[in-house]
Amino acid sequence: MRLAFLGPPGAGKGTQARDLSREWGVPHLATGDMLREALAARTALGLEAKRFMDQGALVPDEVIIGLMRERLAKPDAAKGFIVDGFPRTIAQAEALARLLKDAGQALDAVIFFDVSEEELLRRLTGRRVCRQCQTTYHLVSAPPQKPGVCDRCGGELYQREDDRAETVRRRLEVFARQTAPLLDYYRQRNLLTTVAGEGPIDSIRQAIRRAAGTAR
Ligand code: ADP
Ligand code: ADP
Ligand code: ZN
Repeated sequence: MRLAFLGPPGAGKGTQARDLSREWGVPHLATGDMLREALAARTALGLEAKRFMDQGALVPDEVIIGLMRERLAKPDAAKGFIVDGFPRTIAQAEALARLLKDAGQALDAVIFFDVSEEELLRRLTGRRVCRQCQTTYHLVSAPPQKPGVCDRCGGELYQREDDRAETVRRRLEVFARQTAPLLDYYRQRNLLTTVAGEGPIDSIRQAIRRAAGTAR
């Protein structure tokens, strides 16, 4: 099972990938989470990435590709994975295909999360994230049992700097310009499956299971 979750910021990729990776026993490789962890650990990579993330811009391809090359080489990724938030440019998609090919592998499917812009704005402005385990909540649609506290680990919930309205708009533009071309790229390679990304989290999860099942 080698899947990529593709979609605009706030589409629900992380929410679904976290649950399905556990269900399927494959790692959830989210470049955004990896960058935020690097930043929390104050590594050079994390500090460099911060400049781009704060502006809602993409981190340079070389940086992200290097990060994913290392991550995919770890033994747990050999039997499969869900990549979430990667690839985000054609250059990243080509690098991923090459990396996998060198290991005698290939993507099974790319799942596109189709969500309206109005709903994305609602989701992003209400999103809260656990500082310790990165589990995602929403003030209205997916609140924690106790306000401000992670159900899973008791960690503190915070609002991402880049989830403020101003940066959110920029990220949606960046998606349209730099990432949306991947839809055609993967359609042409017969890898793209679109899932309606609005509605109950459970129904969407079921639609992804179905899409992944037919892809194998
Ligand atoms: P979201 O889940 O809201 O789409 P992410 O957590 O995936 O956001 O990404 C947050 C930020 O991290 C992006 O705005 C970008 O600056 C950086 N980033 C994450 N993944 C990539 C990537 N594949 N290429 C370039 N930048 C990335
Ligand atoms: P992405 O990783 O694509 O940026 P997330 O998984 O972080 O998106 O979800 C964005 C926000 O929307 C979070 O606050 C999450 O709790 C909420 N969310 C996720 N799926 C749904 C859904 N089906 N309906 C309503 N809210 C959702
Ligand atoms: Zn937590």
